[in-house]
Amino acid sequence: MDDLSNGAAWIDGTILPISEARINVTDWGVTHSDMAYDVVPVWQGAFFRLPDYLQRFTASLSALRMDIAMGPDQIQAALHRMVGASGLHSAYVAMVAARGRNPVPGSRDPRDCQNHFYAWCVPYVHIVKPEIAEAGTSVWIAKSVRRIPQDSVNPRVKNYHWGDFTSGLFEAKDKGFETTLLLDHQDNVTEGPGFNVFALFGDRLVTSQHGVLHGITRQTVLEMAREMGLTVETRPLPLEEFWRADEVFLSSSGGGVIPVTRVDERHFSNGAPGPCARQLRKTYFEWLMKDALRTPLHQV
Ligand code: PLP
Repeated sequence: MDDLSNGAAWIDGTILPISEARINVTDWGVTHSDMAYDVVPVWQGAFFRLPDYLQRFTASLSALRMDIAMGPDQIQAALHRMVGASGLHSAYVAMVAARGRNPVPGSRDPRDCQNHFYAWCVPYVHIVKPEIAEAGTSVWIAKSVRRIPQDSVNPRVKNYHWGDFTSGLFEAKDKGFETTLLLDHQDNVTEGPGFNVFALFGDRLVTSQHGVLHGITRQTVLEMAREMGLTVETRPLPLEEFWRADEVFLSSSGGGVIPVTRVDERHFSNGAPGPCARQLRKTYFEWLMKDALRTPLHQV
């Protein structure tokens, strides 16, 4: 059996090394991308904002009419047991609900499927390497693809419909950019693979409200920004306006606040992380250690 410190999974109440975790090929999660998931960070021995992530996950389950026969307390217990067994102190912790297999011969009725829960964790993931984030990252606005419309796949239900992001990532990587950002069909800035997007204009901070996941880090940024005395506006962010931003940054549970210094051919904040993005990045790592927002790992 592999060392659990590379990652562990919780499947049907059993803890397994991540390399041995499997789901069935006929699961609708695999055949139809019919899943909801969430990812909560563990940072230096404690979950960050765990009740908020659990609430978003259970809201996703209701939206998709999934019944995993486990409430938030049982999910939380499974996560504690799994992360505790892994021995990881800082981790990327995924909780997943899949539509499951349809045991009724010939049935194509989603109500017949056996929904199920599983979870997995690996060492903490930075969606942009810290050394790149510190210097400011580069973002390519996808040209060949738009964000899936919110009335087709609800982006507030965290999901694995990543076809649009993956196309954008191919474009970005081929052009030498770190990551990609997608527009909606009205040319508003939406989000990217694993992050929300913010633009600062003077002391006004703008991020999209519609067509995006309501990131928990986005929420944390909005709270930190208010404390810093910034005005926050959650509303559509037209690309035309975005180009005039003083600063641009991303937010994600995988690395917090990530300053952006280049979008396509445009350089922002003189090619270095702006003062506001830098401050928010620093404050985010401080908030990760705030007792009121932490749920310490149970000792196992
Ligand atoms: N948007 C998308 C599409 C995401 O997948 C994620 C996180 O993975 C985010 C935004 C950021 O959300 P959070 O701050 O909760 O990690």
